[in-house]
Amino acid sequence: MPKNKFYITTPIYYVNDVPHIGHAYTTIAADAVARYKRLQGYEVFFLTGTDEHGQKVQQAAKNLNVSPQEHVDKLHQRFKELWVRFNVSNTDFIRTTEERHKELVRNILQELHAKDEIYQDSYEGWYCTPCERFWTEKDLTEGNCPECRRKVEKIKEYNYFFRMSKHQQWLVDKIKNDPHFILPTSRRNEVLGFLENPLGDLCISRPKSRLPWGIPLPFDEEYVTYVWFDALINYISIHGSLEDIKSSGFWPADHNLVGKDILTTHAVYWSTMLKAIGLEPPKNIFAHGWWTVNGQKMSKSLHNVVEPNNLVDLFGVDVIRYFLLREVPFGMDGDFSHKALIGRLNSDLANNLGNLLNRTVNMMKKFFDGVIPTPGAEGPEDAPLTEKAGEVIADVDKLYNELAFNKILQKIWELVDTTNQYIDKTGPWHLVKTEEGKERLKTVMYNSAESLRVLGVLLYPFMPQSMESLMNQLGVETSIAEQGMNSIKSWGGLKPGSQTQKAKQLFPRIEDKQADKILAEVSAPKEDKKEDGSQITIEDFMKVELRTGKVLEAEKVKKSKKLIQLKVDIGTETRQVLAGIAESYEPEDMVGRTVIIVANLKPAKLMGIESQGMVLAANNDGKILLAGFDEEPGQGIQVR
Ligand SMILES: [Zn+2]
Repeated sequence: MPKNKFYITTPIYYVNDVPHIGHAYTTIAADAVARYKRLQGYEVFFLTGTDEHGQKVQQAAKNLNVSPQEHVDKLHQRFKELWVRFNVSNTDFIRTTEERHKELVRNILQELHAKDEIYQDSYEGWYCTPCERFWTEKDLTEGNCPECRRKVEKIKEYNYFFRMSKHQQWLVDKIKNDPHFILPTSRRNEVLGFLENPLGDLCISRPKSRLPWGIPLPFDEEYVTYVWFDALINYISIHGSLEDIKSSGFWPADHNLVGKDILTTHAVYWSTMLKAIGLEPPKNIFAHGWWTVNGQKMSKSLHNVVEPNNLVDLFGVDVIRYFLLREVPFGMDGDFSHKALIGRLNSDLANNLGNLLNRTVNMMKKFFDGVIPTPGAEGPEDAPLTEKAGEVIADVDKLYNELAFNKILQKIWELVDTTNQYIDKTGPWHLVKTEEGKERLKTVMYNSAESLRVLGVLLYPFMPQSMESLMNQLGVETSIAEQGMNSIKSWGGLKPGSQTQKAKQLFPRIEDKQADKILAEVSAPKEDKKEDGSQITIEDFMKVELRTGKVLEAEKVKKSKKLIQLKVDIGTETRQVLAGIAESYEPEDMVGRTVIIVANLKPAKLMGIESQGMVLAANNDGKILLAGFDEEPGQGIQVR
């Protein structure tokens, strides 16, 4: 019998971004759903990938002196590697620079152009180069880009437009008639609010003269495709031609997961594009919230970003997966803190679940030589346990439809607690003392182990590695993927006679001392206590991140004799740095020059301007000499 199909996607991540916990969050969420649906017997397609066109990629490649293609070939690996690390079970990984993607984008453009869904017109606006966005006069903030506050340029050019406005009423009706289409409801209402104003048409081209890095329009090779129009098509290009998509059984997608910042793009651009193409919109677009870190907005500055690889090193992959999906409702914003994570690890994972497994396996060893017994005498404590299991399995399934991961885990923990109580109430250590008790003990130990097996299947989508280890300890030889949800539909799937394995801590507790150490390490760097005030260790020195950077722009700071404001490209990003060098250097001498930057210095404000780093220089009686190199080292290189 052919399997039912299920399709879930993450957004494709912007290839220039350094992967952070927000990326991991969406991808882990999608992975949990994909794994659950596979356990239910669905044929699941789970897609993630990278968005690789656009101005910023072109600029970053230029700064590094490599071709955009070389640049993205290298950078997209960071995402691929991270998903391997996080045990993500994606079916495919789409890159928008792949031929299979570009081909469909061009075919769709050709078709929409032929159908007069795309037309040419002139366009005038204020353009912000770093943001790649046009703004109208009234959008501007004090004449600058409202998003990044940088200078904008007035540009008039001919471009191609998608007739988005003509699909507005259809979209409003669709959202109103289908409450599941956009979730959570608060976000759905925001989109409806946005749609109360007339929708414009969407500019879908960029002149090649300004931006060559993109997919050329098939009907006018002087232009490339606007990066969003290109990127959104990834969700279908993975399935081949339009005909292939229709017959694949994977469209419309069951869930397009997105961050709340790109909901409008998906709900409005993407849905109307699909309408014009003649495909249905996805069944659901779900916008999740953002993470702050220890109460602060996540920023690029390194000290504030929670590096996902480091987190895995510190706590193990499943603990991170569990924490992210347990801590905060999926549609809401959340705060990541190491303290909260250690709290959850110790209480939920080590104490409740880990301890349940540990004592069950240990008692099995002690009372039955590690062999799962055939159930014996029944007792009044049995029914509440098996009924709880049935209730949890049914409720979890409903909660998956709402992607309510935190509630799913809370629900599953009800079974953890009930099983712990079951053991406490029946008291195996007393039962073992009498012959009659021993008959009852068989049932109690069997049921405890069976409940753990049910928990193993239910928790596998969240913590796949740990749950395989749990099954192994219980002596279950069939993989969880093979057992599936069917195996827990009725009580008693665990085979009597199986040999349990040695008990092993699934989630070792983090003791107070160790926790203090971790918290000290991850908190903001404190004043160094130097022993004699004059020497530092190599570790102290290594804390200073020195990098080469190329000066892109330089201008004198008004009302300051000494300060020059620099824009410095340090390879991964552009920094705004103030340097007290104006008495020795002219701004125009600085542009194009390579300097050494202290890249992890806490940003500070001078004369009201933020400086995100420090330039190294010698001061010889007021004459400033910049530190430099005999040869051009390139930017972003570490200096030791
Ligand atoms: Zn901007």
